[in-house]
Amino acid sequence: MQTADFRRHAHQLADWMADYFENIAQYPVKPPVLPGDIKDQLPAGPPLRGEAFEQLMADFERIILPGMAHWQHPQFMAYFPATRSAPSVLAEMLTAAIGAQCMIWYTSPAAEELEERCMEWLRSMLALPAGWYGSIHDTASTATLVALLMARERISRFAINRQGWYGQPRLRVYASEHVHSSVPKGVRIAGFGEENLVLIPTGEDFAMLPHKLEEAIRHDLGQGFRPTCVVAALGTTSSTAIDPIRPIGEICRKYGLFFHVDAAYAGTALLLPEKRWMSDGLELADSFVFNPHKWMFTNFDCTAFYVQDKKLLTDTFSIMPEYLKTPLDRQVNNYRDWGIQLGRRFRALKLWFVIRTYGLEGLQARLREHIRIGQWLAAEIENEPDFDLLAPTPLNLVCFRYHPQGGFSEEQLNHINEQLLQSLNDSGKILLTQTKLNGKYTIRLVSGQVETKQEDVEKGWRLIKEMAKQIGR
Ligand SMILES: *Cc1c(COP(=O)(O)O)cnc(C)c1O
Repeated sequence: MQTADFRRHAHQLADWMADYFENIAQYPVKPPVLPGDIKDQLPAGPPLRGEAFEQLMADFERIILPGMAHWQHPQFMAYFPATRSAPSVLAEMLTAAIGAQCMIWYTSPAAEELEERCMEWLRSMLALPAGWYGSIHDTASTATLVALLMARERISRFAINRQGWYGQPRLRVYASEHVHSSVPKGVRIAGFGEENLVLIPTGEDFAMLPHKLEEAIRHDLGQGFRPTCVVAALGTTSSTAIDPIRPIGEICRKYGLFFHVDAAYAGTALLLPEKRWMSDGLELADSFVFNPHKWMFTNFDCTAFYVQDKKLLTDTFSIMPEYLKTPLDRQVNNYRDWGIQLGRRFRALKLWFVIRTYGLEGLQARLREHIRIGQWLAAEIENEPDFDLLAPTPLNLVCFRYHPQGGFSEEQLNHINEQLLQSLNDSGKILLTQTKLNGKYTIRLVSGQVETKQEDVEKGWRLIKEMAKQIGR
C-alpha cells in the first residue's frame, strides 16, 4: 500500500470510527449468528493476488461487523465491561503506527520510562503503598500467574526454578470459594496442581472468612503440607464481594505466606477516597493487580501489576543470554525481566492519553456516576415485589433474580431465571450474564462504559421487567 493510499484510507477510517461511536446503540448487542456462520462466508484459501482496500472494507462491513458483539453498546451489561475511550483509541493508532517492540529499555527508552511514570501515577492515584513497583501486563490472568510463580520461588528459595519440583513438599494455595478462574488456571500452570488450591468458605456477603483461612492453614500444617500463597479478591467476579484484606494479610504475615490481591475489576474504584475502605491493610500484600482495561476506559489489553519486592520478581524471571545484554542494564528497568513475555507491546501510551485527557477528577466523576446508577438500580430492584436483590452492591454490579408470586421452588426459580436471561440475550437488545450465589441462579448487571448514563440502565431495567412479565405468564 502506497503512503498516499494509506493517508486516504486512514482518513476514511477516522470517519468510520467516529460514526461507529455515534451509532453504536443501533447494532444488536450480540449478533444472532450460529457457529460457522462467519467462517462459511470466508473463502477456504487466501487470495493469490493482493486485493483493494475498498474490497476489504466492504467485506469487513458485510461479514465481520455483523458477527461482532458490541462491548461498548450502552446495553452491554454482561461480565465486566472492557472499556475503551476516544483518547485510548487514538493512542492505539499511534502505537500501531510506530510498531515498536518494547522488550528492553535499549529498544524503546521512552516506552519504558513512560510505563515507569504511569505506574507511579497510578500508584498514587489509587493510594497504593509508596514503595511498590508497577509494570504493565496483558491480562490479570498473566499477572496472577506471575504472582504465583514469585510465591513458589520465594518459598522454595528458587529451587523449583533450578531443579523443578524434585523433593519439594506439597505447596498449598488458598483463595475464596468465589475465586476467579484465572487462579486455578495459574495454579495448574505454575505446577502447584489444582488439588493444592484450597477454597475457603465465604460469609453472608460472599467475602472470604479469615478464621476459616487460618483453620485451613493450620490443618494443612498438621498434614505436612507447606502453605505458600493466599489470593484475595478485592471485588469477586460473581458479586464484587470484597475479601477483608487486613485480617487476611495478618494471617499471611503470621504464617509466612505470599499474599496476592486480585482487584482486576474493582481496583479502579480505589481512585475514589470514599472507596478506600476496601483496600485497608493493602500494605500487608506482596502483589496487587488491577485492569485499567476493565473500568478505566483504556483499550484491552492493559493490566497494572504491582509488587513489593522487585528483586524477588526479577530473580524469578531474569535470564541473561548474550544477545539481550546491553551496556545500560545496571541503570534501567528491562521489563522483559518482570514477567513471562520477552516481547512487549507499548501499552503505557494509551494509559497516559486516558489519564491526561480525563484527569484524576474526570475519571473520579465517571466512576461516581456509575456507582450512583448501580445503587439506583439496586434500590429499584429491592422495591420491586417480583424481584430479589441477591448480594450487597458495593459498586455498580447488581445481582438479582426474578421471583414471581406463586410459591415456586428454588429449582423452578432457577429455571425461570435461566429462561429469562436467555430470552433477554436472544433479543439482541441487551446482554447480561449469570452466576450462582448460595445455589441460586443469579442475573448480574453491570454498566461502566465511559459514556454510561442512567437512561441506559433504565432502558435495560425496563426490558428486564417486560420480558419477565411475558415469561411469568
Ligand atoms: C476479569 C477478572 C480477572 C481476569 O482478567 P483478565 O485480564 O481477563 O485475565 C481476574 N480476576 C477477577 C476478579 C476478574 O474480575
